[in-house]
Amino acid sequence: MGVNTQWEMGRSEAACSPGTVVVRLDRAVKTYRAGSSRVRALDGVDFSLAAGTWTAVMGPSGSGKSTLLHCAAGLDTVDDGRVALCGEDITAADDRRLTRLRRGTVGFVFQNFNLVASLSAEQNVALPLRLSGAGVRRDQVRGALADVGLADRGRHKPRELSGGQQQRVAIARAMVTRPVVLFADEPTGALDSTSARAVLALLRAMVDETGQSIVMVTHDPMAASAADAVVFLSDGRVVDRLDRPSANRVAERLASLEV
Ligand code: ADP
Repeated sequence: MGVNTQWEMGRSEAACSPGTVVVRLDRAVKTYRAGSSRVRALDGVDFSLAAGTWTAVMGPSGSGKSTLLHCAAGLDTVDDGRVALCGEDITAADDRRLTRLRRGTVGFVFQNFNLVASLSAEQNVALPLRLSGAGVRRDQVRGALADVGLADRGRHKPRELSGGQQQRVAIARAMVTRPVVLFADEPTGALDSTSARAVLALLRAMVDETGQSIVMVTHDPMAASAADAVVFLSDGRVVDRLDRPSANRVAERLASLEV
């Protein structure tokens, strides 16, 4: 299968089978201008995510977490180093290819859900299909809502749903295109602890049962402990990694970085 065909499909089965690396950053550097000086938001970051695994990214405010997420997902570009998705170097990808990538290969979930208030849950979930021009199949949309436990809420508007339900609609919307990688930016940050646990259990089930790959930025040690591994950033560098972390271990490590 040719490279372009893989990208056209959105999901690259050959390069993204279990055990392969779906996200890779090699010595990634990203600088921003801050007045007359420059900030190195990513200062030579190496990062890799194996297919079918979930990594949390933590670190003090300003340590580069959002920048890492955005560069890894093709929302932003690095100044130096390489970023690859499913073995494809996206560092030099043009806008058209990056747009295709965003619509097919990666999915996003945000802290504040970012649902369209005037649309029903079903219409929100259908949006990525409309945008990709793939055509909207109702069974696909309903299936995505059923997968997040909201089969009976399709006609509800976001304001008629709890925060946890809205986030689950957002997850259904992200997953309806069957992205290779789900990028989640503080997905439980706006939720009460019960709703947060439900969302984390849902993400965990997606990884364990369907082999979904997830990169999640979080401040919450409890959320991070649901992941397979936690990578810690400080001043744009990866300074530590914990595998199968407990919330206590994560909290301790985070506190030591925030001092
Ligand atoms: P985090 O997500 O860990 O809080 P960020 O990735 O948002 O960290 O930011 C890392 C560093 O880059 C910070 O010093 C931040 O101020 C800076 N930064 C991020 N985005 C921009 C931007 N668009 N313009 C200028 N500086 C930025």
